[in-house]
Amino acid sequence: MIFFPNKSKKYTPLILAYHRVCEEDCGDSLASTLKQLKWHIIFLKNRGYKFCTLNQWATGTFSSDPSKTAILTFDDGWRDNYELAFPLLKELGVSATIFLIADYIGLSKLPDGMVQAEGRRFLTLEMIKEMSKYGIDFGSHTLTHKVLTECPKQEAFTELAGSRDKLNSLLKSDVIIICYPKSQVNEDVINAAIKAGYKYGVVTQPFRKPRNKLVSPLALSRIGLYSKDNKLRFLIKYFNFLIRN
Ligand SMILES: [Zn+2]
Repeated sequence: MIFFPNKSKKYTPLILAYHRVCEEDCGDSLASTLKQLKWHIIFLKNRGYKFCTLNQWATGTFSSDPSKTAILTFDDGWRDNYELAFPLLKELGVSATIFLIADYIGLSKLPDGMVQAEGRRFLTLEMIKEMSKYGIDFGSHTLTHKVLTECPKQEAFTELAGSRDKLNSLLKSDVIIICYPKSQVNEDVINAAIKAGYKYGVVTQPFRKPRNKLVSPLALSRIGLYSKDNKLRFLIKYFNFLIRN
């Protein structure tokens, strides 16, 4: 397994993890409201943070004070990321990284087994391309959102490599970042991700997780933000990150 040297630990950026975005509370516990998202971005801007995408950070094409670098990420590729979050990101002049479930792009009805609810539709390729032109970048969230630690090895590899191939050809890019479904990852999954061509991976750090001594580029920690995260909970998570990072 590859590890960053200890001394680089202080350069771990602040990575925030979102899912759906709703105009107001839409009853989805994983969703954030536009108001919450806007407040987070403005709070961080006021503290001197500059925003970049994960690709910009990973490839070193963004130069800014590493301790004041923030990255917004959105999981699953929900259509409201385009309809609601994208106009806000443009208004505030910030970018983001979206993790796509490669086989679900364009779906208006969720596959069997996923909770069906109003508004739960996926981004279309056209929407993805438009956001890409603006500077939003995209990573893989596997082919079908399978929990990789629970899959047979070959199936996990197919989810990783197949989604990377599919996204590379759809987006005409080199996808190097994987977001593990449900943040479930172990050494076998990381090795499979490396074999599939990924250079970076993200997990969502559980609240109050003990401080990490080492950070793997294939398991970068993010702060997960959900509908219940009011201003106080956001601040607790943010200051917890500062203390532990
Ligand atoms: Zn997901």
